[in-house]
Amino acid sequence: MGSSISESVDVLIAGAGPAGSATALLLARAGYRVLAVDRAAFPRDKPCADYLSPGALRVLARLGVRPAAESVGAPLRGIRVTAGGGNRLEGMFAEAHASRFGATAESHGLCLPRRDLDQLLVDAARRSGATIAERTTVEALVHAEGGVGGAVLRSADGSRRVVGARLTVGADGLRSVTARAIGRRKHRSPRRVAFVAHLDGIAGEAGLAEMVVGPTGYAGLNPLTDGRMNVALVVPAAAAADARGNPEHFFLAGLATFPALRQRLEGARVVRRVLVTGPFAARSGTIVTRGAALVGDAAEFFDPFTGEGVCSALRGAELLAGAAAEALTAPGIAHARRLAPYLAARRRAFAGKWAVERLISAAMAFPAIFDRAVGRIERRGLAHTLIGVTGEFLPARAVLNPSFLARAVI
Ligand SMILES: Cc1cc2nc3c(=O)[nH]c(=O)nc-3n(C[C@H](O)[C@H](O)[C@H](O)COP(=O)(O)OP(=O)(O)OC[C@H]3O[C@@H](n4cnc5c(N)ncnc54)[C@H](O)[C@@H]3O)c2cc1C
Repeated sequence: MGSSISESVDVLIAGAGPAGSATALLLARAGYRVLAVDRAAFPRDKPCADYLSPGALRVLARLGVRPAAESVGAPLRGIRVTAGGGNRLEGMFAEAHASRFGATAESHGLCLPRRDLDQLLVDAARRSGATIAERTTVEALVHAEGGVGGAVLRSADGSRRVVGARLTVGADGLRSVTARAIGRRKHRSPRRVAFVAHLDGIAGEAGLAEMVVGPTGYAGLNPLTDGRMNVALVVPAAAAADARGNPEHFFLAGLATFPALRQRLEGARVVRRVLVTGPFAARSGTIVTRGAALVGDAAEFFDPFTGEGVCSALRGAELLAGAAAEALTAPGIAHARRLAPYLAARRRAFAGKWAVERLISAAMAFPAIFDRAVGRIERRGLAHTLIGVTGEFLPARAVLNPSFLARAVI
């Protein structure tokens, strides 16, 4: 097809997950004409552990979605981590001594299926004036004025059209087409794959999310409403080849190798099919270019262990919308230089959290050290602080300081 533009908007967004919907909402609120497209039809399931940190709830409040999210989700008081050797820590959000770190306290997170969360965000973006086109795929980007000038969209009936935009946002997730079109997508270690389902009949403690490290990887258990549990199994990508053809069997057999879970699985029933995703981690070399920017997993995703992806997607959307609203006051395609404050803001907001995630991941590569550290963190009363940092309401420096690190490992 030719590349004649059939329609023009200020902002075209590929993907209407948390990053795309939040960006759409904020830029529509700022008065721009926004079109967000998603290849899926909402509501849709997404392989995710369904955990929302207290920090994510803060952003949802700013977006005006928190009351609706709280009315459908199950509140979480804290997190329990069980290491492979049996040591455990339990961190409660309310006990994280926020004032000691110059932060505001939070009492809870939320467990909310992505089917519900993403629909709430799409609805809120529409109410703010954004247009959301479902069953519409971004196939390729188009070029204009020496940069990105929109995209080729394919609708569910197979028809194609070119939409011109002054800013094209890649919010199209882990396997982002946009990210690959504007730069190199680097896949790095750890290369892991996840299997996620909803289960009935598995015992858990209401209000407590769990991470369990086992011989083949780790598992997350998050209590939904009605006694239902979100269960995620994360294993090295190489091990997941055995799952071909029967992911449910692989998922249940994999979980049964965890001594801490074996008994609890007896009588458990899969009530939402096993969804598979990966491999992660991935990072984009170019996050901002003339006429385009990436946000959410399209920009970077490391590992689901600390459950921070949705918060980063929403926070990234706030940072991008702030810089973009300013950049778009000038006519024409958004200039990379005017979008650069977004990169600086990302570094300020995320550098500490990236360091904590990588520290935890590095420790997990040495099971004996991880097990010992989990035991020490619990015994020395540091668990609430750690969970406050991964819950995104305490600053990373509460953990990244010599005193905390020495007490956790020595
Ligand atoms: C196993 C697992 C468990 C996780 N658990 C948690 C958790 O408990 N808590 C948490 O905070 N984070 C968790 N995460 C991370 C979290 O899921 C992601 O970080 C988050 O979904 C990122 O949001 P996003 O909007 O960037 O991408 P997505 O949510 O992936 O949304 C991208 C959207 O883009 C659409 N799309 C893709 N390609 C195209 C295209 N070409 N054209 C149009 N549309 C397109 C997709 O349909 C999708 O709707 C988990 C991740 C994994 C893998």
